[in-house]
Parts: sequence; structure tokens; C-alpha cells
Amino acid sequence: MRAVRYVDAEVGTAVSEVPDPSPGPDEVVISVEACGLCGSDVHSVQNGQCAPGQILGHEFSGRIVALGSNVTGWSDGQAVAASPLGS
Ligand SMILES: [Zn+2]
Repeated sequence: MRAVRYVDAEVGTAVSEVPDPSPGPDEVVISVEACGLCGSDVHSVQNGQCAPGQILGHEFSGRIVALGSNVTGWSDGQAVAASPLGS
């Protein structure tokens, strides 16, 4: 999959290919169809808070493409939106 990743302080960010994820037992994998890069992403890059290789963009929508073994109540192909920060 393609992802916007933090490279380093000199380069900043770049779009690159990363391995497709597989879900842990309590997780789903979402094929992202839309993703925003917001002020939090910009500030984390500007303030040196990103680790090299960190994928940016934490508000996104798409469809579930894989479910972990413990996941119930969600289905393959289901449209979802996520903001994985916070509680
Ligand atoms: Zn945000």
C-alpha cells in the first residue's frame, strides 16, 4: 500500500510503498479510500515529534478487508470511518 511517511528532518515526508498489514486478533484492516493530513500531522513533523518511518494521517475512511479472529460485529466490505487517536 502507499503511505505518507516521515523520513527525517532534512527530507520531511514522502509517499512510499509499505507492506500491507494483517490484523491482530482484536483488529481489522481497512482499505483506506480517503485520508486527511491535518494540523496535528503538520505540527508533529515541524516539532520533531515523528519517528523515522512513521505513517501520517489519522482520520480516514474506507472498507474493512480483513478481520482478526476475535472480532465480532463488523464484516468484510463494511464501510467505516476511523479516528484512532484518543479514547
Ligand atoms: Zn487530526
